[in-house]
Amino acid sequence: MINKALDDYTREDLLSILDETVDAIVLVDSKQNRYRTIARKGIFSTLISDTGVYEDLIQKIWFHLENSNDTINDDYKAFVSYYREFKGKYSRRAKVFVEGDSIPHYIQMNVYPIDGTGQYVFAMDELANEEYVEEYSTNRKVNTIQNTYLFSMYVDLLKDTTSSISVTEISDDTMNATIKYSQWRLMAVNMIWPDDQKQFMSITDPEYLKENLSTGRTTSFDCKMKNLEGVYIWVKLVFIRAETTEEEFRFVFMVQNIDENVKELMSTMKKYESLALRDPLTGLFNRGGIETEINNAIELFKKGGSDVSLMMIDLDYFKNVNDTFGHAAGDEALKHFAEVLRKSAEGKSASVGRWGGEEFVILLRNMSEDKAASFAENLRKNVEDASFGEVGRLTCSIGLSHLKKEDTFDNIFRRIDRAMYASKNAGRNRVTKE
Ligand code: GH3
Ligand code: MG
Ligand code: MG
Repeated sequence: MINKALDDYTREDLLSILDETVDAIVLVDSKQNRYRTIARKGIFSTLISDTGVYEDLIQKIWFHLENSNDTINDDYKAFVSYYREFKGKYSRRAKVFVEGDSIPHYIQMNVYPIDGTGQYVFAMDELANEEYVEEYSTNRKVNTIQNTYLFSMYVDLLKDTTSSISVTEISDDTMNATIKYSQWRLMAVNMIWPDDQKQFMSITDPEYLKENLSTGRTTSFDCKMKNLEGVYIWVKLVFIRAETTEEEFRFVFMVQNIDENVKELMSTMKKYESLALRDPLTGLFNRGGIETEINNAIELFKKGGSDVSLMMIDLDYFKNVNDTFGHAAGDEALKHFAEVLRKSAEGKSASVGRWGGEEFVILLRNMSEDKAASFAENLRKNVEDASFGEVGRLTCSIGLSHLKKEDTFDNIFRRIDRAMYASKNAGRNRVTKE
């Protein structure tokens, strides 16, 4: 190390001192997505390479890789060329993990943009841990807010400008970044799930906003958007128009992470959906559920889909079961009967439902008329052969029909009902086709 009187130091001396002292100096080209390391020592020897992909570097510094549920900061976006170009100097502290080392390292980074080039000089140093701990805990509190609001910006629609919003007094660093709103939309749309892109473009359209977002109003739109790891997550895009005069148009745009909420909601919905469509005693489709299945099958058939057959199945002399063994035993027998139906339909494109009481309906797709008839006959035999525990043997009467071009739900239903009664009248335990 050079050691001179203050007045004797030359510019070269200073540069060489800096070169020796600063832990890492990296040149970045954000447009080429590349970096080149000029100097590195200490943890930076493992953290960064001689050259590499710029986004990888960014990810190492901005995300806590091995603690990725910890915090994710958003201000990195200021440096990534497809978001915007960063113009001012920038300084922040970050916690990083080095591979194979469970203790975090705290680093101080200073970024110096090379004006108008999209290139930056990163100068980084590792800090002694104690210095940083206290400050870090404040930072952390603030970052929990940033976690739910992944991104926020202030837009002046008439001037076509954007500026970043920082919810923290610590990290107001992205204020120097500028991008036109009209450009921002075109870039941001690439982060949106392809199916949602069209709607994204229409709701972020300046003309649309002018017409639909009156002063003081809020509107939002839920869609899927790529997160920093390239995974699509559910987000809520929120637009809040400032309460200004009609001549001005400024709004806040926010992206809120609602991924967990949406997933929870969907699984609850699925539960409710299955509760609403299932018969609680047998677990088969209930009347509403099987009706929907049948209607969907008819609709598909009309669009040129495959064959559809329908069966009405009624237990024979079931009243006797209740009268002899009691209602509870009757219920058990119905459950058992449902199981026989389910087993018979296994592996087929079939839906089994309880129409009500001791009446059941089976929808058969993809089966020729003959195959459906032998299916029905097999089913009748399976019931006849099954033993229903204490209630012993049971039989059923079946009505069967094949869907025709001009059929409606009511037509074919009338036919299977009639056919089922014909089976009853002919002595029960048989299949009638109409
Ligand atoms: P059929 O051969 O003419 O169909 O004679 P059936 O006795 O089966 O016909 P009916 O319609 O007279 O009686 C049906 C009986 O099914 C009446 C009722 O006691 C019984 N049942 C309907 N729903 C349930 C149920 O959920 N549980 C029990 N245990 N019995 C039921
Ligand atoms: Mg009946
Ligand atoms: Mg009956």
